[in-house]
Amino acid sequence: MELKTLYREIVNEHNLHPEHKHDLENPTMVLEGVNPSCGDDINLQLRIRDGVIEDAAFNGSGCAISQASADMMIDLILGKSEEEALRLAQIFMGMIQGTATEEEIEELDEAAALQDIAHMPARVKCAVLGWRTMREMVEKLEGE
Ligand code: ZN
Repeated sequence: MELKTLYREIVNEHNLHPEHKHDLENPTMVLEGVNPSCGDDINLQLRIRDGVIEDAAFNGSGCAISQASADMMIDLILGKSEEEALRLAQIFMGMIQGTATEEEIEELDEAAALQDIAHMPARVKCAVLGWRTMREMVEKLEGE
């Protein structure tokens, strides 16, 4: 199944001109996320202070969906608290699994462009890579 044209354009734009694809100068956490089934590899860098994501960036390589999804995720989590970032990750996972409500999906802004991935099982791991990596980092922090 093809992504709808508008959605495909949003994904292409984030893949070709990612705003957050660079190295962060002084990250407090760095974690590599890999999706071997597609060859996606991202290095997610967060600067978290007092429970707030002050800055975030990523580097890496992979398919358009994995790279665009990471870029859109960072748009959403910048300036948010750890709890809010985890909540958004939950909504994103719910959208991919087809269990999120329309209101919830609206909160995802441009990341909602990936909702049709729910119908493309082979690409799900690409779409969730950035979110999964971010969730792992924040959960690790909260467990400390
Ligand atoms: Zn991929």
